[in-house]
Amino acid sequence: MSSEKIKKIWLNGRLVLAHEAKVNVLTPTCQFGANVFEGVRCYWNDEDQQLYAFKLKDHLKRLQNSIKLMRFEIGFAEEQIEAAFMEAVKANSYQEDIEVRINVFLDGSGSWYSSGPTGMFIAPGPKGRLYEKEKGVHCCVSSWERINDRSLSPRVKMGATYMNSRLAQLEAVQNGYDTAIFLNDLGKVSEAPGSCIFIMRNGALLTPPLTASILESITRAALMELAENELKLKVIERDIDRTELYIADESFLCGTAMEIVSILSVDRFELNQGKPGLITEKLRQIFFDIARGKNKRYLDWLTPIYN
Ligand code: PMP
Repeated sequence: MSSEKIKKIWLNGRLVLAHEAKVNVLTPTCQFGANVFEGVRCYWNDEDQQLYAFKLKDHLKRLQNSIKLMRFEIGFAEEQIEAAFMEAVKANSYQEDIEVRINVFLDGSGSWYSSGPTGMFIAPGPKGRLYEKEKGVHCCVSSWERINDRSLSPRVKMGATYMNSRLAQLEAVQNGYDTAIFLNDLGKVSEAPGSCIFIMRNGALLTPPLTASILESITRAALMELAENELKLKVIERDIDRTELYIADESFLCGTAMEIVSILSVDRFELNQGKPGLITEKLRQIFFDIARGKNKRYLDWLTPIYN
């Protein structure tokens, strides 16, 4: 999201203009990256004149898990965070697709091991597609290993884990790729710097399990359900070898920011002759219809913002 377009931010219980939303440089969040966060997409439906937050409850639940795992003390209950989310998004009156950052950070003047005081901000801002549909992405397998549950768990959505993502992303771009795919400490495929991965092989949709050093992705879970229920595909969570990436029939990345993006090649091995695959395209269509509130059978995945 381009931060210049953010108007009002909810910060510690108050709505403030974006340029007034300040955090002290001496805080542990500033010095050590001590924060946990979520990014929630909301989709604008022109016909319904409605903005729909996608899987809000799941994001709030994951935020609670991150708070717990980092032993942050937070003074807001889950319902209060949801109410603050609604207040922040409504206050900006967006009529376009947006992404909302919810960030719980270590405030005050403690250290990296303090548990509080924590602050929270909620910042909604316009956000379109990351990549154009017909383009897709060219990936490499990263020379960097994905962090793991014995050191810094990728299950926790926190600023600090993105420094591992950063190394992989910058290396990939430097070497002429769009993004990277990490292997984990066991040498199996884990995820991309900011998204999860699926591959199609022999008619089945495969994805690494939640124990493969990945974030517990909300989009991944949604797509697994849709692939099974809507496309009647066999969906299998299992370890994936690096060479399986090269011979996949098709493959895609998914995530809140990424949504669904085809992988056109891995380490310059073309997939599906370098074109987006059929299953990817079908899932993409189904996903966007649901996210935008056009498929009324899945309205319970959405939270309408305006009443
Ligand atoms: N993995 C990583 C490392 C991510 O940053 C993201 C984006 N949040 C994902 C996977 C996808 O998760 P979600 O679908 O919940 O956005």
